[in-house]
Amino acid sequence: MSRYTGPICKKCQKLSQKMFLKGTKCFNNCPVDKQAQSDKRFSNNGPRGKMSDYGKHLREKQIARMSAGMSEAQFHRFFVNAAKTPGGTGETLMRYLEIRLDNIVRRLGFAVSLKTARQLVSHGHIRVNGRCINIPSYLLKIGDEITIDTALLETAGVKQGLEHADKVALRPSFLVWDSDKHSGKLVRWPDRAESSIQADDQLIIEFYSK
Ligand code: ZN
Repeated sequence: MSRYTGPICKKCQKLSQKMFLKGTKCFNNCPVDKQAQSDKRFSNNGPRGKMSDYGKHLREKQIARMSAGMSEAQFHRFFVNAAKTPGGTGETLMRYLEIRLDNIVRRLGFAVSLKTARQLVSHGHIRVNGRCINIPSYLLKIGDEITIDTALLETAGVKQGLEHADKVALRPSFLVWDSDKHSGKLVRWPDRAESSIQADDQLIIEFYSK
C-alpha cells in the first residue's frame, strides 16, 4: 500500500494527529500511523520531541480547531461560550465541538468526512426533528432526531458513508441509529473519551488563559 502524502493528510502529518478531514484516508492510509511507530522508538517527549509550553498549548488548540474545521474566530467563540457555561470548561468545549450538527451528520454516516457533512447541512439536506437546519455549527440537544432528504439516500456518496459507519467507523453509543428509518437520535451527551477530537482540553485552556 502506498503512503498518501496529498494536501489533506499533510495537515495530519504536520500536527502528528489524525484529523479525518477528507474521505477515509485517515482510517487506512494516514502518515500519522507511521510517525507514531517511529516516535515510540526514538522519543518519550511526544510527537515532536522537546517543545516549549506555548508550542504545546498552540498545537492542541490547532488540532482541535482544525479537526472541527473551524476558523480561529469561530473556535474562540466556542471556547468563550464553553467558559461561560457551568461545569468544566474543557469538557464543555469538547462536548460542544462533538455535538455540532455537521460532526453528528458525519458520525451517523451520512458523509465520510466533515467537509462533505458540512456541505449536506449548508445545502439544506439535513433535518433536525423534521425541520431543515442549514447551520453546520448548530448545537444539538438530547432527544434531537437527525434525518437526511430521502432522495440523497440513493446517492453513491451517502451509501458509501452509511456503509463506512456500519463497518469501519462505527457509530458511538450516544447516538441511536434506526436503520429502517435512516435516522439518528442523540440520546445522551458524549463522554470525553467518545469525542472524535483527540486533543488535550487542559492545554487548550492554557492557550487561551495567557
Ligand atoms: Zn490523516
